[in-house]
Amino acid sequence: MKYENGYVDSFRRLIQCPTVTESGHEYFEAFHKVLDEEFPHVAATCEKIELGRDVLLYKWTGKDSARPVVLMAHQDVVPAVGGDWKYDPFSATVEDGKVYGRGAMDCKNTLFGTIQAVDELIEEGFVPEQDVYLSYSDCEETSGPGVELARDWFKAQGIKPCIVIDEGGAIIRKFMKNMTKDACMVGILEKGYADVKFIARGKGGHSSQPPKNTPIARLGGFINYCEKHTIFKSKMSAPSKAMIKGLGDVMTQPLKGLAKLFGGSCLLAKLAPKIVPSYGMAMYQTTMVFTMMQGATAPNVIPQEAWVNANLRFSPNDTSEKCFKKLRKIAKKFDLDMEVTKSREASPMVDFTSKEYKIFTEAVKKTYPDVAIVPYLMFGGTDCRTMQEIASTAIRCTPCKLSTAQLGGMHASNESVDISSLGETVECFKNFLKMYK
Ligand SMILES: [Zn+2]
Repeated sequence: MKYENGYVDSFRRLIQCPTVTESGHEYFEAFHKVLDEEFPHVAATCEKIELGRDVLLYKWTGKDSARPVVLMAHQDVVPAVGGDWKYDPFSATVEDGKVYGRGAMDCKNTLFGTIQAVDELIEEGFVPEQDVYLSYSDCEETSGPGVELARDWFKAQGIKPCIVIDEGGAIIRKFMKNMTKDACMVGILEKGYADVKFIARGKGGHSSQPPKNTPIARLGGFINYCEKHTIFKSKMSAPSKAMIKGLGDVMTQPLKGLAKLFGGSCLLAKLAPKIVPSYGMAMYQTTMVFTMMQGATAPNVIPQEAWVNANLRFSPNDTSEKCFKKLRKIAKKFDLDMEVTKSREASPMVDFTSKEYKIFTEAVKKTYPDVAIVPYLMFGGTDCRTMQEIASTAIRCTPCKLSTAQLGGMHASNESVDISSLGETVECFKNFLKMYK
């Protein structure tokens, strides 16, 4: 049995495949070969739906097709160049009960947890009540087309998944000493996203005879204004409320009492800018940060055009149009043009009362009786939002225990996962599949 060695050999082989996003397809083909060898029951029993190179989609036929389940993950990983890696990031070195390597927790742990669960259940002779699909894109990290191919296939077949589970939250080990329990952060919603370019135009010219108010000076004034003013109001949204309430439940006093008293109130959102560190404000408001800029192409040229890119993450309380309207007004003051290059709204929120959400959280509780369930507003993006377009419930959570140090390994050096956590993740997905009807 693989479980006896904590699945470690099998998981290490997944990490040892350097499936760096946008690298040659031969790396992904080698990875698929490893999947076939390590999960022979999936290879023999599940139907592999051919949708081209960017996505692996398996179908495990259940007793019924009315309420299908889709378990998602991605095959690709971000590059592992630079940083202070203790070990070669693709060696999958085992040390102190952990496997170190790129992709260990983003998200080959999710891929392993789901495919191993299905493989074991097939071996045990279990037949699921409903059809189960495994969907693994090879280009999530670059927002590539893999997940869209899978979504379009479901649409073309007229299949409407009842529940989709993808990466997102995890089970976070007590990260504050006031916490009484570990918390399973169940991603229930993703913030919206936009890239907006602000462009300053002018006559240009030689830098030896500069006029006033050149494009870069106007951009500078605009950036400074945006940094100093509160452009987007902080408000309590339903998911932030649920998150504070959930976290309050696992705190000791007085935090427990405070969360109960203020958790759901707008007062907390109003006070937040004064008491919450700036990064924590992402929970209460739409955020904006400047990420790219360009001026002239030579040091002695006044540019005719200069631009800066702002990256926005919309709170579920805001619409993109409402935010753009505010920005357009400010841009006008500084004589800037505004161009939206990418935009999407916050995703719909998962219905806590749905049968699917309940089954997922019951499976977590069954696997981890001492873990609290905390709904979670996700600031970053996942492939899940694309599949959510056709699914009634979309949960972003890998039921895998991670420490705060391990969370810091995401897209950084020394990414790792505990061997014991891998076993529990498989167990949790097995429980979910057995409980799902
Ligand atoms: Zn990921």
